[in-house]
Amino acid sequence: MSYDIQQIHDLRFRRFLSRTEIADRIVAIGKEVSADYQGKQPVIISILNGSFIFAADLLRTLTIDPFITFVKLSSYQGIQTTGLVSTVLGLDCSLKNKDVILLEDILDTGKTLYEFAHQLQQEHQPASLKIATLFYKPDAVQYPIQADYIGFSIPNIFVVGYGLDYNGFGRSLPDLYVLAEE
Ligand code: 5GP
Ligand code: MG
Repeated sequence: MSYDIQQIHDLRFRRFLSRTEIADRIVAIGKEVSADYQGKQPVIISILNGSFIFAADLLRTLTIDPFITFVKLSSYQGIQTTGLVSTVLGLDCSLKNKDVILLEDILDTGKTLYEFAHQLQQEHQPASLKIATLFYKPDAVQYPIQADYIGFSIPNIFVVGYGLDYNGFGRSLPDLYVLAEE
């Protein structure tokens, strides 16, 4: 599928970044990561579901040979006023003294990465921890978290495609789409 406008459920989206622009940027990030981790074997943790396509494309640009694993984070409203808690499903290897890179599809409020990164530092004591996010919404960030590798800074508008969904659909679109104004 490849149209300038996509209808998903009740909403219309328009193409914002093409697959070529995304692919070029991922090659550049891959070069940076390969240079930074030359001679090392980092553990790359891809945060599901959204980052699976980014992970697949980025990993194949690397000239290092990382260990790759996937986690799924589920958030729920806790009973304390402190709010939301994340649960990690699938982290099946030791990260102690390892160089870890978290791969995220998009950094929005920053809550997911802030909590997960904090939890990893506390529980697993990695040697180092870096964050790579393909998309970043600077105007949406509410938590003190910074990504070390950023694909694109984008406006604070809902996006779909390239792994990102709207209610389960749109992930397979090869380009990135933004919510179209009516
Ligand atoms: P954050 O915790 O930084 O607020 O965002 C966490 C998650 O919300 C992201 O990993 C992503 O799954 C989802 N998300 C945030 N912004 C968008 C968006 O514009 N589109 C889609 N499809 N998901 C988003
Ligand atoms: Mg995500």
